[in-house]
Amino acid sequence: MKTKAPPKRKILKFFVKYRTVSLVGFGLWLYFAMSAYNISLWWIVLAGTIMGIVFGKVFCRWVCPIGMVMEFLLRLSADAKVRQMYAYHKLGCPIAWISGYLNRFSIFRIKLSADSCTSCGICDKKCYIVAMEPAKYSLYKTVKSNPGDSYTCSKCLECVAACPNGSLNYKS
Ligand code: SF4
Ligand code: SF4
Repeated sequence: MKTKAPPKRKILKFFVKYRTVSLVGFGLWLYFAMSAYNISLWWIVLAGTIMGIVFGKVFCRWVCPIGMVMEFLLRLSADAKVRQMYAYHKLGCPIAWISGYLNRFSIFRIKLSADSCTSCGICDKKCYIVAMEPAKYSLYKTVKSNPGDSYTCSKCLECVAACPNGSLNYKS
């Protein structure tokens, strides 16, 4: 019998499903706030770092105006050049570097409750990091590394939202 997802999980699924809406909202807001109030890039780096300490690398996929443009381009074209451009912009971004490094130390992390996990593997199929390096990473095979702690994890939370048993959680 299919069990009903608790309200907290429903909210998380909703946000993950409409993440790009949030990205556009935050991205445009940040862009206009920076332009209107002449906010220095250093304040943005500081804000991104504080977010990194608490939540890990959330800035790139949930807030960043450049990330917003890049995701838009990726939706228009999955061309290898566009993908390279996306990767290239992240290489040059101090917030991506700092918050990516903080993924393994952040207060909120992606955690597995092994008791309820049925090893169905759905989470791994949703994760772009596992797709790139399946021999190294897994969200449920504990002999492998947790992709959520890796530099590359931008906290899309697709893995957490996809787990049918609520065995993956993004918590402190
Ligand atoms: S989706 Fe959930 S139940 Fe399935 S393997 Fe991943 S953590 Fe385990
Ligand atoms: S949040 Fe989950 S699915 Fe997304 S990149 Fe990180 S580990 Fe992979």
